[in-house]
Amino acid sequence: MTTRTIHAVHRNDQFHWVGDGFYVNQLLPTGPELAHLTEPFLLMDYNPVKEYPPTDVPRGVGVHPHRGFETVTLAFEGAVAHHDSTGAGGVIYPGDVQWMTAARGILHKEYHEAEWAKVGGRFHMVQLWVNLPAKHKMDEPGYQGLTAESMGKVKLEGGGVVTLVAGELDGEVGPARTFTPIELWDAELVADETAELAVPDGHNLMVFVIDGEVTSGDGHVNGAHQGAGAGRGGVRLAQQELGIFNREGSVLRLTAGPLGARVLVLGGEPINEPVLFHGPFVMNTREEIIAAYEDFRRGKFGHLE
Ligand code: MN
Repeated sequence: MTTRTIHAVHRNDQFHWVGDGFYVNQLLPTGPELAHLTEPFLLMDYNPVKEYPPTDVPRGVGVHPHRGFETVTLAFEGAVAHHDSTGAGGVIYPGDVQWMTAARGILHKEYHEAEWAKVGGRFHMVQLWVNLPAKHKMDEPGYQGLTAESMGKVKLEGGGVVTLVAGELDGEVGPARTFTPIELWDAELVADETAELAVPDGHNLMVFVIDGEVTSGDGHVNGAHQGAGAGRGGVRLAQQELGIFNREGSVLRLTAGPLGARVLVLGGEPINEPVLFHGPFVMNTREEIIAAYEDFRRGKFGHLE
């Protein structure tokens, strides 16, 4: 069985505010060079641990539209509230995931949950944008509020544990319903242990380091930098680095550093369609982007206060 190799390592130290509630760096490379290896993921806004003082006016981002894709929000610390123009809403707490399908169009707002904001504290989350195939871009919008208890769990031989939001590992499955096959896993790895995870051959694959560091690959480096872990037979990924893997292979090998590691594994079947990304809309053609702005102006995305 072939072990996955890292094609490129990406990091981004440029942070920006989304509204006044999310201080994020966008981790996915922009531009077309690596898009074939990162799809169906379009964007990854990572909000590392940030302390917020108590407030009676919750921070966040006001009403805005989306069309043509899904927003997937994972709360690690803090609490995120959401309301949308379909009438759906919810709050996600640590370990929960909000999987929102914008599809043909939605208005929503996202902010710190009011009771949490009154107390304040550590806030830590990530939001992914997941593309939809052309045939589902104009489907009905949807919302899945996935609780921490509902996630799949796989215990690793070395003592680690993999939490499955989406996709299958060792016979366990994550609860998310997806339009194309996707793996979204949150893996806790024990110090100096090597985990070998079965991943679908041909799917795109990325690993993002939330805590600690990992070394991955089969010892060969293909265009990626060689870090301190290179002598251990792979490419080292430091905290807040994203490893973008080549598509071939059905084993993801990860060795945690001396302090252990926590990583997000993002995988998925490539959609292989043109991607036009403009503001909050992701479609296949320029005409569809223009139509999205027209429909938004005409109020076709519904209404939300
Ligand atoms: Mn949004």
